[in-house]
Order: sequence, then C-alpha cells, then structure tokens
Amino acid sequence: MPPPQPCDAAADPSTAPDSKISTTASIQYWNTISPDVNGMLGGFPQISRIDLRGSLNFITKLRRLSSNCQVRNAPKLLRAVDCGAGIGRVTEGFLTHICDVVDVVEPVVKFAQVLEDGALKQEGKIGDVYVTGLQDWTPTKTYDLIWNQWCVGHLTDTQLVAYFKRCGAALSEGGWLVVKENLSTHRFGEDIFDHVDSSVTRSDQKFRDLFREAGLQIVKAELQTGFPKGLGLYPVKMYALRPK
Ligand code: SAH
Repeated sequence: MPPPQPCDAAADPSTAPDSKISTTASIQYWNTISPDVNGMLGGFPQISRIDLRGSLNFITKLRRLSSNCQVRNAPKLLRAVDCGAGIGRVTEGFLTHICDVVDVVEPVVKFAQVLEDGALKQEGKIGDVYVTGLQDWTPTKTYDLIWNQWCVGHLTDTQLVAYFKRCGAALSEGGWLVVKENLSTHRFGEDIFDHVDSSVTRSDQKFRDLFREAGLQIVKAELQTGFPKGLGLYPVKMYALRPK
C-alpha cells in the first residue's frame, strides 16, 4: 500500500481483502517502478516534504512525552530501522537526522541497491541493509525506533500480527514502533484490496485490532495534516506503539 493513493479504488467484498495479497505480484509490481521519490510516492512527489515534516513533529512530541532519559534528552536516538524503505526517502529525509545509525529492510533489490551505493552508506549513517520482506524479517538487534511507512499493506493480517510481535520484542527501553499508513475510507469500514500493487488499505479499527492482538498499546496516534486537497488521497495516520 504504497503511498498516498486516490481513495476511489474499487473494493470487492467477496472475500477477506488480505487473502488476495500475493507477495510475488507485489514484488513484480514494485520492480516496474522507478527508483526515485516519484516512484515511492505513487506519482505524488510533492507531498514528500510535508510528510517528512509531519513525521518529525510526531517524533518530537513523542520524545517530549517520554520519561526515558535516553530517548527524551539525547541529541539523537542510537539506532532505528526503516522497514519497507524503498530507496530510503524516509531514511534520508528524516530518520538519519534523528538517529546515529539507520538499518533498512527492503525486499526489492533495485531499491535496496540505491541505499547500498549511496553516500549515507559510505558515511556509516546507514547500517545493515536487509533485502527481504517484513513477513520474513526478524530483528536481530535492539532498536529505539522501528519505522514502517506505506508498506505493511503488503502483509496479510496474520503475517502482520506476527511481525508486530517480533518488532515489540526488539524495542529498546523507551523505544517505539511507528506505523504510518493510509486508512481505508470504505463506507462500511472495510479494508480495501488494491489489485495494482497487491496490497490492502486497512481501516483504523482493523489496525487497532491487529495492534491489540500483537500485544501492543498505542502511545500516541495522529493524522498527518497538510497534504494538498483535491488529489483524492487516503487519510494517513501515524501510530506509535509499545508492548503492553
Ligand atoms: N516507505 C518508503 C517506501 C514506500 S513504497 C517511503 O515512504 O518512501 C512501498 C515499499 O514497500 C516499496 O519499496 C516496496 O518494495 C516495499 N514492499 C513491498 N512488499 C513489501 C514487503 N512484503 N515487505 C516490506 N516492504 C515491502
């Protein structure tokens, strides 16, 4: 569920939307997409700056809320991971500004390659690059921040709950799991399957149910504001989570 998307995609109510997800189809789709910000944002590159600013504001508020000295007062967090990172738009535009080192998880080789070959990797600001899907990834380190943006729609509900549990177990004391995703605007509150990239767009209620199932609590949640009207984009929400 990539980027900002027009919310008029046709929904097929016959089966659970997430049962139609095909990893093969989604990887095939992403391989046809150009490795640039326009590709990452589904043809809406102009929203990148607003998106990154919204994320920074959200983290700033989270850090103020925190009683943990390391995450509240340190100039930077120690280690974050950008999950479903694409070419590293979020890593470059936001995460490396607030973290010493950012690991990256991205299943599409040509996107991961952009990160491997880039200056941030040379400078040591990008750490490990894991070329795999989130459904197959188990964190092997402790992270202050696990960032998931516009990618968890490629996992089924079952895969996502298992993945969230693994993330919860990999957070440092005071760390956050953040999920920043489009929300379904289906009039009966259903998730919406997107045939183009083989992903689902979930409702706010579905996200809350999956978080609860994974043993996570919402520390803070906020809608992204400031995207231009008239593009027909889905609403975008940020959730900061921690194990209960
Ligand atoms: N988060 C980035 C990229 C969004 S585009 C940003 O906000 O700019 C969606 C990304 O999800 C693509 O890079 C795509 O390759 C990746 N993706 C597709 N299937 C995935 C999966 N199963 N696990 C993790 N990432 C996946």
